[in-house]
Amino acid sequence: LAAASTAPVKDLFQVKSPNVVYSDNEINSKYTYRTTDVSQGEDGKFVATPKETVYNFKTDRKVGKVGMMLVGWGGNNGTTVTAGIIANRRGLSWDTREGPRKANYYGSVVMASTVKLGTDTKTGAEVHVPFHDMLPMVHPNDLAIGGWDISGMDLAAAMDRAAVLEPTLKAMVKKEMAVMKPLPSVYYPDFIAANQEERADNVIPGSKACMAHVEQIRKDIRDFKAAHGLDKVIVQWTANTERYADLVEGVNDTADNLMKAIEDGHEEVSPSTIFAVACILENAPFINGSPQNTFVPGAIQLAEKHGAFVGGDDFKSGQTKMKSALVDFIISAGIKLTSIASYNHLGNNDGMNLSSHRQFRSKEISKSNVVDDMVAANTVLYEKDEHPDHCVVIKYMPAVGDNKRALDEYYAEIFMGGHQTISIFNVCEDSLLASPLIIDLVLVTEMMTRISWQAEGGEKDFAGFHSVLSVLSFMLKAPLVPPGTPVINALAKQRAALTNIFRACVGLEPESDMTLEHKLF
Ligand code: NAD
Repeated sequence: LAAASTAPVKDLFQVKSPNVVYSDNEINSKYTYRTTDVSQGEDGKFVATPKETVYNFKTDRKVGKVGMMLVGWGGNNGTTVTAGIIANRRGLSWDTREGPRKANYYGSVVMASTVKLGTDTKTGAEVHVPFHDMLPMVHPNDLAIGGWDISGMDLAAAMDRAAVLEPTLKAMVKKEMAVMKPLPSVYYPDFIAANQEERADNVIPGSKACMAHVEQIRKDIRDFKAAHGLDKVIVQWTANTERYADLVEGVNDTADNLMKAIEDGHEEVSPSTIFAVACILENAPFINGSPQNTFVPGAIQLAEKHGAFVGGDDFKSGQTKMKSALVDFIISAGIKLTSIASYNHLGNNDGMNLSSHRQFRSKEISKSNVVDDMVAANTVLYEKDEHPDHCVVIKYMPAVGDNKRALDEYYAEIFMGGHQTISIFNVCEDSLLASPLIIDLVLVTEMMTRISWQAEGGEKDFAGFHSVLSVLSFMLKAPLVPPGTPVINALAKQRAALTNIFRACVGLEPESDMTLEHKLF
């Protein structure tokens, strides 16, 4: 595997400001964060007070060698993202019935979108730079890839089973993928659909939680790191959707209770929570790409205790991504959305797993709350606790394979009692949409391991961001946020948070889009 360069990356741009200092190893920025404090008087009126907080951000410029380990490596997403990275690394092009295609990273916000840097001094035109060049970030081509699966099939055979990629492309990456074999994994049959049992031929002995499982996963991570000479490993759950774990007092409510529950072999500890715990203890960031409640309160507390990064839940690839953009548009346009009816059918293994009620329920929950913040923010259109009707249906339809169909009807009330109906038929080539998100989640998470902050004038030394990486929200359907903090679902806000935090690290103001330079002259 190609090794990432550990030398400082050559910057596409440099910020010229007294608040930004570049050294060989670091970028230091002094950043004034401007917010507005609001209080409400007894007369109901608001008082808004501008507030400034000055932070110092320190970004380590040495990317190092990075590994990505996937739980569910042999699944549709796991095989597709692996083949995609290999194809990009080798600069492959292949024939399709529509002509030649070449490897790309379309659908990755980091690899295929740009950020406005500013305006050209001479022409006044906007200058954009690739997102990947905002800060020194790892390139996906340089990632070492590995992982676990309860199915022992090698990655080439598993790629065939997934039925996602063109045969011409598969033929080109087959040899390399045939030698990739998933590590045995933790399998507790009660957590995924019974229809998955046939796959489970590659499991670590034991069908309920135990410390031996945690230790085995930790060892797997260490071995992978050593075998590839890696500085860090990011782990992602892209395995089957599990049922929800019951939240039980004394079992998964605190870090200590969770560790004790694992030792006692409690039946409400899921395989994904075992992975989360192992990663936290190993200080390997862990991201949950499925909807289940892997991060029970005890797991979050454990992550906070160890200062380990976690993120989740559930990749936001198709229907929900559209929803979090469209509903933001409808409500912020002052139109009263009154119902959303979402129907899906899909024919891949994920669909088969979701045809079981308890696993579907996890997905239903994750898909249901995605408009809450946008509704709550508009007190003109909605009374307190008033919500649009929202239903989500998912059916398993083998014939359509990985080409998931998502049908959504948005029904809204417009001026003077009129109605607007928007119907969307979205064919989401599921794994081809999810794979770039898996890459983004690794790239952004890795970046966050190299950014630290300090309050200007404060006593405390530089520290990392909070353990729960809500900055990953753009890529996730039901964003996990630090306990007690608000969830932001609106897609544009999620992207703004991501880009503006990265801008702050190089001492740039948030992109305000006021463009006064084109309005005041
Ligand atoms: P898949 O069924 O093809 O792959 C899942 C893999 O996980 C399988 O190979 C299975 O053998 C393996 N597995 C199951 N339990 C395991 C365990 N305990 N340890 C290790 N491996 C295990 O599914 P997929 O299409 O790749 O999707 C993966 C997950 O991502 C699903 O939960 C899905 O809901 C979620 N997701 C996918 C998308 C998308 O593809 N667009 C979007 C959002 C969420």
